[in-house]
Amino acid sequence: MKELTIGIDIGGTNTKFGIVDRDGNVIFHDRISTAGHEEFRDYFKVLSKAIRQAMEAIQGEYKMYGIGVGAANGNYYKGTIERATNLPWKGITPVAEMFKEEFDLPAIITNDANAAAVGELVYGAAKGMKDFIVVTLGTGLGSGFVSNGQLLNGKHGIAGELGHTSVNPAGRFCNCGKRGCLETYVSATGIKRTVYKLLADHLEPSELRGISFDNLNTKMITECAIRGDVVALAAFEYTGRILGMKLAETVVHTDPEAIFLFGGLSLAGDLIFKPTIRHMEANLMPLFRGKVKVLPSALQNQAAPILGASSLVWNYLDNAHPKEVLA
Ligand SMILES: [Zn+2]
Repeated sequence: MKELTIGIDIGGTNTKFGIVDRDGNVIFHDRISTAGHEEFRDYFKVLSKAIRQAMEAIQGEYKMYGIGVGAANGNYYKGTIERATNLPWKGITPVAEMFKEEFDLPAIITNDANAAAVGELVYGAAKGMKDFIVVTLGTGLGSGFVSNGQLLNGKHGIAGELGHTSVNPAGRFCNCGKRGCLETYVSATGIKRTVYKLLADHLEPSELRGISFDNLNTKMITECAIRGDVVALAAFEYTGRILGMKLAETVVHTDPEAIFLFGGLSLAGDLIFKPTIRHMEANLMPLFRGKVKVLPSALQNQAAPILGASSLVWNYLDNAHPKEVLA
């Protein structure tokens, strides 16, 4: 009999969901619009119907073990999404409770970066590791910490918000209300801000000159850097330096075996990994030098958010409380 879980990734524009087996094979996946539903109840109705249809279409015998949800501001302890700025629903939404009632299945929720960390642990390159960090490089910068084999949630379920630790207290303005947060430098948006600053500082010709801020993206900057564009190369060096210095500080907290970079900027390969590793090593406390690997995530594909969400259920059943019902 197949053993399955449902993984749901609630993003600002779309919600991706899928049915996943023990080995991380996505046997069904689809998406619905998130942005089009201003009331959570309407959204939930559409999503539940789509999930039921998917379950009915599964061939052969199976047992469904639970539902895992990854969402910005997903709270592991309360099972809620709280005041997420990228989602249309205001206040506190009791997501886990509603899924549990609707499907009579255990339901777990956490933020998308924590889900990526558990996904790496259950299906990815962190299998067998007990101490590692996943840094997700998207529009912003998220991170999930696994220590002693357990995801760090913290007292309020918001542990490991590396993106909002300071790089420069008088630096760039951040969505969170502070200034100089890491994600204002190291993210898809951050590197764009850096390119614009460098264009102002440099006199050399650059293909990036004349591209509007809204039209600029990581892929363009990567392609220009590969062609030797001075400004694009300098932007990666600058971004890698800030990330590397921050990682050098971060490792002292949990002494990780590896740090995985996931998504967006990490797909630029050596362009981002080389300066990051160089500056991390140069700034590490000597005891740590040469000991912490910086690696690409093994879940670099379209299904990664679904895998991360579904892995929450396996992780909980495998490690924490195998006999208990969740949520
Ligand atoms: Zn911030």
